[in-house]
Amino acid sequence: MSSLFPTFARYPITIVKGKGSRLWDDQGKEYLDFMTGIAVTSLGHVPERVQNALVSQLDQLWHVSNLFYNPVQEKAAKLLTDNSCADAVFFCNSGAEANEAAIKLARRYHQKVLGNGRYEIVTLTHSFHGRTLATLTATGQDKVKEGFLPLPQGFVHVPLNDLAALEAAITDQTAAVMIELVQAEGGVHLADPAYVKAVRELCDRHGILLILDEVQTGMGRTGKLFAYEHYGIEPDIFTLAKGIASGFPVGAMLGKAALVPAFTAGSHGSTFSGTPIATAAIAATIETMLLEKAPERAAASGELLVSKLKQALAGLPNVTDVRGLGLIVGIECAGPVADIVAELHKRGLLVITAGPNVLRLLPNLLVTAEEIDEAVGIIAAVLSEQAAALSASN
Ligand SMILES: *Cc1c(COP(=O)(O)O)cnc(C)c1O
Repeated sequence: MSSLFPTFARYPITIVKGKGSRLWDDQGKEYLDFMTGIAVTSLGHVPERVQNALVSQLDQLWHVSNLFYNPVQEKAAKLLTDNSCADAVFFCNSGAEANEAAIKLARRYHQKVLGNGRYEIVTLTHSFHGRTLATLTATGQDKVKEGFLPLPQGFVHVPLNDLAALEAAITDQTAAVMIELVQAEGGVHLADPAYVKAVRELCDRHGILLILDEVQTGMGRTGKLFAYEHYGIEPDIFTLAKGIASGFPVGAMLGKAALVPAFTAGSHGSTFSGTPIATAAIAATIETMLLEKAPERAAASGELLVSKLKQALAGLPNVTDVRGLGLIVGIECAGPVADIVAELHKRGLLVITAGPNVLRLLPNLLVTAEEIDEAVGIIAAVLSEQAAALSASN
């Protein structure tokens, strides 16, 4: 019997080694990795530049309290602010914590800086924001809330791309609107560009902060370093985690200069906030992404992947849609995809789901055209065989 709480439904595979786009299990079987630990290892497994930065930091200093200055943390923060619309960064240890910090900053800005007492956060149905009590309450999916009552107050949900519903949900207590530009966990649903622009205008009109949860979309994944760059808008606050440090567990909450006075000394914190090791991994990851033009490559590879999939899957009655932004790609199927995922794994291609009927592909940002061909070939074979089996049984 395992000594772990059984919180995870695990595939029957034991991964023991990784390099680049490949993983190996304990039987020596090789896999092409098109899930990257859920959009985490965006430079591939064990990327050399990040590995070297981590090894040299491990020789130097592992941890220092935030009661002291930390130049590695300053460097990582400056790389983030120099390359984004944000002016300040708070480092934490996960996506949920980054969103928790964003919610706290939004409330505190209204309550302490503006003095208006606002606290409500409007989020979207099918969203995913994390597993802490506040972020699971913000999440627009009931399954993550079961058994955890009572939930914190002040969260309202409205459907994606429905501006009228959002407008109707706004009250004189609304502090922030928090959205994902691509709902990744929720089924690879894309926000309409016109909707995103209108949400920004609506927030401006009502003095509401716009928080973007870029935990999955950030760090080059969608073909820009940050997904908001696609939409010609800037958020007041945005959050990062998954792809930010090549697999080192860390998150970040970033905000505009106007919000900086809201987080005074002692108002928020974390023992492990921006440790030298974590921030060395972040700095090396960002530098490598910029050097390798990872966002641009993700944009080109995403287009290639979607067009090849559309071509290969055209006419299959069990496939209803192929969509994505950069290298978050969803293949929506007519029914549940759990068996398809298992078959793909058997044939050496690692993918995950996004909701019951959607296959989600998240290759690393440096994926090659050959690897895309290999993955598309395996996916097309498995889905064609399913289509044939379904028509034979009818
Ligand atoms: C994964 C994810 C989170 C939660 O991140 P954790 O590191 O698991 O806490 C939050 N928001 C989005 C959009 C995510 O994809």
